[in-house]
Amino acid sequence: MIVVMKEGATQEEIQEVAELLKAKGLGVHISQGEEKTIIGVIGQKERVRELPVESMPAVEKVVPVSNPFKLASRAFHPQDTLVTVGNHVVGSGEPTIIAGPCSVESLEQIIEVAEGVKRSGAHMLRGGAFKPRSSPYSFQGLGETGLQYLAEARERTGLPIVSEVMEIDTLSMMCEYVDVLQIGARNMQNYPLLRAVGKTQMPVLLKRGLAATMEEWLMSAEYVLSEGNPNVILCERGIRTFETYTRNTLDLNAVPVVQNLSHLPVIVDPSHGVGKWQFVTAMARAGIAAGANGLIVEVHPNPKEAFSDGDQSLTLESFDTMVKEVNRIAQALGAQEVEFAGRH
Ligand code: PEP
Ligand code: MN
Repeated sequence: MIVVMKEGATQEEIQEVAELLKAKGLGVHISQGEEKTIIGVIGQKERVRELPVESMPAVEKVVPVSNPFKLASRAFHPQDTLVTVGNHVVGSGEPTIIAGPCSVESLEQIIEVAEGVKRSGAHMLRGGAFKPRSSPYSFQGLGETGLQYLAEARERTGLPIVSEVMEIDTLSMMCEYVDVLQIGARNMQNYPLLRAVGKTQMPVLLKRGLAATMEEWLMSAEYVLSEGNPNVILCERGIRTFETYTRNTLDLNAVPVVQNLSHLPVIVDPSHGVGKWQFVTAMARAGIAAGANGLIVEVHPNPKEAFSDGDQSLTLESFDTMVKEVNRIAQALGAQEVEFAGRH
């Protein structure tokens, strides 16, 4: 349920409603808009109905929320959420560009990529130090050494670091090195891990699971939000379909649909979405055209030699072209002041 307060309701009136709800054991989430305040209520709706909320003078109406996700929903929080990483704000209008190799392989490699993607306009550097590989015999990542190399790359370029946290045991170590905790597709429904990152205030990049519905994905975001961490960025990275020519099927439906359902920023990963570098730029353009708040893209100085995901990695040169093309699309949308139908 949400309680919509009348325009001009005072802080005392808002608190009075909130206290009444809390006294009944209900969870309360206050979202103060420019004109109206919305109080999101978590708990059984029957309990809300037992209270005289609707007849309170400062209350405009009480509206049921049918979605199972609450804190992640637009109904609870109508304004877009902005997530600040260093001095960059995700969701502010300019597309966020995150780029780097699938895996950190050496100090030289990560520095070369960091300097290259920065020159092309990237806002953040990605790189896996702990890798969720399908085979236990494949390269598993450099672990803490990889995080040290990422930190060195940040030192040299100023780019904030995005890296995947695979398990709770390494979470506190990850927090010492990275700026954004990535939750990988395979861990999207690892609820203890989601709760643990929810207990930090670190920005979380939550990838959509390989076969997760949009609702399941938003329920995973709900786990993080419900522990008190509001800094969630959603990432569409392709889902499993019957199509095998491409690695996954990039579900661009998710961009406007999830922006309509939720206030959280949504970015697109065209690299895992399509799985072949030849098609990555086209899908990056498409993601931005669909209204995504940004992109995360795999870039390697020599993709043929990459320890992981070389087939889908752009060279530094092709990444530079991609950024230019994507920016043209973003500017065209901005110039025409396109309102994305899904946003409101
Ligand atoms: C990655 O970003 O390298 C990765 C493993 O992504 P995903 O979890 O989306 O497969
Ligand atoms: Mn990868």
